Amino acid sequence: MRNKLVEKSQTYHILIHILLGLICALIISREFQGENLFLLLICGFLGNTLPDLDHVIYYLTYGKDSEYSQIIKLFIKERDFKEVKDFLRENHKYLTGLYSHTILSPLITGFLTYFFYTKNKIYLATLFLSITVHFSYDILEDLLFFKRLNPNWFMHFNKKNKNNQGIQLPYLEFLKSKKKN
Ligand SMILES: [Zn+2]
Repeated sequence: MRNKLVEKSQTYHILIHILLGLICALIISREFQGENLFLLLICGFLGNTLPDLDHVIYYLTYGKDSEYSQIIKLFIKERDFKEVKDFLRENHKYLTGLYSHTILSPLITGFLTYFFYTKNKIYLATLFLSITVHFSYDILEDLLFFKRLNPNWFMHFNKKNKNNQGIQLPYLEFLKSKKKN
């Protein structure tokens, strides 16, 4: 059962985030009449997808020297985009270097949700509710995958999770073999 859930969560990770964002917008829209539903849905969508832009920022800037980024770079260089997709699908949970994904993040965005909600700023409230839900889902996913949180949530960045060996070995071997050449 758990393995099945892990597999589904891996396959539909982005889709689940998008759906959760739209659900956030629908929940808020029920509380307020006459608001622009389309705009609310956009805010919900952005809120659940924006936090993962940090994956791109990590790859391009502060994490560009990591094995994780180097493996992706190799696949992109070889124009093997299917490998990029497979690699991300199977390994993104082992990336513990994202500065945006800490236990503080959902606390701060949760507070901002409440703040904007009480001020009737419902588009901002939707955006931050959706961001909060994004982090909450990522946390739940960690518990599902590893039965414990990844070190990044406790601000221990770039540490391996004790329940896994980090990036899957075949990928590391591949990286090593390329470096030798
Ligand atoms: Zn995330």
